[in-house]
Amino acid sequence: TQELDLKRYIRHVPDFPKPGILFYDISTLLRNADAWQVATGRLARAIAPWQPDLLAGIESRGFLTAAPIATRLGCGFTMLRKPGKLPGETVTLTYDLEYGSDSLAIQADAVKPGQRVVVLDDLLATGGTLAASVQLLRKVGAEVVGASVLIELENLGGRRKIDVPLHTLISYE
Ligand code: 5GP
Repeated sequence: TQELDLKRYIRHVPDFPKPGILFYDISTLLRNADAWQVATGRLARAIAPWQPDLLAGIESRGFLTAAPIATRLGCGFTMLRKPGKLPGETVTLTYDLEYGSDSLAIQADAVKPGQRVVVLDDLLATGGTLAASVQLLRKVGAEVVGASVLIELENLGGRRKIDVPLHTLISYE
C-alpha cells in the first residue's frame, strides 16, 4: 500500500455536468475499500501535525473526506452546507463564482472561540469554494490551521486563493 497509485481510482467523466467539462469522479475511489483506506490514512497523516480540534467538511463530497479522518484523528467534525439545511442559528457567506454567486452556511455555535480547524473538500478547482469556507470559519471564531483536498487541478491556480497551509493528495496539471 506504500506506493498505491490513487490516480488509478479516479474516473474521468467527459461532458459532466455540462458539455466541455471534464469531471473527476471520486465514486470509483470510495467504492474500493482498500484504496479508500489508503487515501484516508494518507490524509490523516498529513493533517495530524496541524493538531486540529475540529475538521470542517464542505457539502457534500467534503463530508465524505472529512468525517472518516475526524474519526481517525479523534477530533470533532462539522458541516459547511448550502443555506437552509442546518437547524438553529446559522452564519452565511456569499461568494462570487465565474458566473453568479454561491453561499455556504455553518451553525453559529459550531466552533468554540480559537478552536483549531482544518477544512476539507474533495477537489480544488478555482479555489473559490475553499477560500470562502476558510473565511466563513473565521467568521464564527475558528483558527483555520490548514486545508486539505483529495484532488488539486493545478492549472486553475486555486492554491493562490488559499491563505492557510494546503495539503493535496492527488494533483493534475
Ligand atoms: P472551485 O470552487 O475550487 O472552483 O470548485 C471546487 C468545488 O467544486 C468543490 O466543492 C468540488 O466538489 C466541486 N467540483 C468542481 N469540479 C469538480 C470535479 O471535476 N470533480 C469533483 N469531484 N468535484 C468538482
